[in-house]
Amino acid sequence: MPNLCRRRKSCRLCASVKMTQVLELCPTPPANAFVSKKFLSQSQPVFPLKLFFCESCSHVQLVDIVNPELLFKNYVYVSGTSPVFISHFHDYAETIIKSYVSNPEGQLVLDIGSNDGTLLKEFKKYGMRVLGVDPAQEISVKACNEGVETLNAFFTRKLAHQIRVDYGAAKVVTANNVFAHSDELIDITNGIHDLLAPDGVFVFEVSYLADVFQGTLFDTIYHEHLAYHSVKPLQHFFKKHGLEMIAAKRVKTHGGSLRGIVQLANGPREIDASIGAFIKEEADLGLHKASTLHSFGVRIGEIKEELRCVLKSLKEEGKTIGGFGAPAKATTLMHHFDIGPDIIDFIVDDSQLKQGLYSPGMHIPIIGSSAIYKKKPDVMLILAWNFSKSIMKDHREYLRRGGTFVVPLPKVEIFKL
Ligand SMILES: [Zn+2]
Repeated sequence: MPNLCRRRKSCRLCASVKMTQVLELCPTPPANAFVSKKFLSQSQPVFPLKLFFCESCSHVQLVDIVNPELLFKNYVYVSGTSPVFISHFHDYAETIIKSYVSNPEGQLVLDIGSNDGTLLKEFKKYGMRVLGVDPAQEISVKACNEGVETLNAFFTRKLAHQIRVDYGAAKVVTANNVFAHSDELIDITNGIHDLLAPDGVFVFEVSYLADVFQGTLFDTIYHEHLAYHSVKPLQHFFKKHGLEMIAAKRVKTHGGSLRGIVQLANGPREIDASIGAFIKEEADLGLHKASTLHSFGVRIGEIKEELRCVLKSLKEEGKTIGGFGAPAKATTLMHHFDIGPDIIDFIVDDSQLKQGLYSPGMHIPIIGSSAIYKKKPDVMLILAWNFSKSIMKDHREYLRRGGTFVVPLPKVEIFKL
């Protein structure tokens, strides 16, 4: 069996070994490792979840790397199934073409981690030649069948050279989330450098450290998310690899993301004022100092105390408690806040893929959301708390019948009629 987890000793971006641990969360199994009934008796391996800060470039990162085979083997996420994402990618392609591609017809656009090709389909509408690269086999086949040529592989510098020979230089290269999910950022970035046309742009979206910090999104820290990016370390990183970051923007995806635009060093475009503005705002927030991230950990610890106190007193009153939503991030939340089967009897989730399975590590059964009217739990703890408002709106009837919702983050709140 290959190593399930390894630890890197140096910064993923700048290779410095001056790394300081700023936050230690409770170890968890992979956040998406839901369990079927027949494997319930087997214990699941758990892996460390420790956040480190690079004293040289300020990059915030996980250093314990779970084998990607284990994380992405059963990866079923398909972007085209969500109308929110289709609309996001429509606007994404339109913005990039308007701002950076004067003559799109026949030009090559490459998407790294292209999933089912949803983003590339949008570029195709402008007459661009599209090519996807994705390691998930089934999804790649689906994309090809739908007219988006997709290479079933991990993107590497070697593959970039082959693509350049077979398809020519790329006017646009996109990578969404890959930049936060991969441990091989140097090789990927060198590949992008070698593949870009002289006036080409590289566009990426990653969850943004400022959003994680300001929104207390600590539960987005799980093993798939190796990097918690901010502009200052990235600017330095791209410069080192013959590229330059020319613009940055905050976008709403995944609770708050950063979109960065990059060109070859000394490329045709000016560096936008947004880069300086982002770096200043990050400095004002203290994101370039380890002490700020330590204080983030203290804030999380306080929320944990408060939530456990609320849940414990509810249990002592004899109340029954269910969980609402089984997103990947609930794995981090439940493990770090120590919310197990002694507190929660079941979890409801609208995804049929998850119903009938058990939550990673804690092994709490997941069932359909109609259960809250049949099982009538006294309290529902909203684990998918970023959707709290819409969940409570959809299930006002539960409140009307005397139910209580508890929202754990960004602060503990209790809702009843
Ligand atoms: Zn560094």
